[in-house]
Amino acid sequence: MSDGSKTEDDRMYGGAMHDDISEVLLDETTIAARVRELASDLATHLASTLPPDEPIVLVPVLTGSLVFTADLIRHLPNKMRIGVVTVSSYDGATTERRATALRGALPADLEGKHVVIVDDIFDTGHTMSLLDRELRHAGASGITSVVLLSKPARHEVDLRPDFSGFEIPDAFVVGYGLDYDGHYRNLPCIGILRPEAIK
Ligand code: 5GP
Ligand code: MG
Repeated sequence: MSDGSKTEDDRMYGGAMHDDISEVLLDETTIAARVRELASDLATHLASTLPPDEPIVLVPVLTGSLVFTADLIRHLPNKMRIGVVTVSSYDGATTERRATALRGALPADLEGKHVVIVDDIFDTGHTMSLLDRELRHAGASGITSVVLLSKPARHEVDLRPDFSGFEIPDAFVVGYGLDYDGHYRNLPCIGILRPEAIK
């Protein structure tokens, strides 16, 4: 139903949610174009690394990578199983770090499989380090990592993602799967949250 008072921006960025964003860093169109490129680069890499038709195991990190994963996999031609993991690294309200830990089990039957880790953002890098270690320990024959965002100013580990969509400044961002206190994941763009919206 059409509401005459809504602007194009309200439709694109989620109306009231958009009022809490001080700056849109990446709009819907920019994200979509880059996700296609990432899928293409990843597919090319996998084709050059793996035997033809070798199935992969895609491991999305919940919950933040849910939207990114949904878009990415629809541009990937590879035969795949999907096994999600949950890693807790911050309390949901800030990026103030707590101990990074795996919550729940890893996907089954990883022995000899090529794993593709998908995460929303590579921040300190501790989440990716932990997963890399755990997945290798579980028998993965190889690991490729792909993240939508990366904050170079915050990296604390030597490991780097194999594929990264955008480098962003050191600011707390929400949208396109990323939350603040559980909200804003359904915002189609990625933006910086206004300080007033942070409790
Ligand atoms: P890392 O272990 O690399 O420090 O943290 C990665 C995780 O922290 C991401 O998967 C994400 O859940 C969370 N995170 C880091 N920076 C941000 C941010 O700017 N916004 C949101 N919503 N989550 C973030
Ligand atoms: Mg995460």
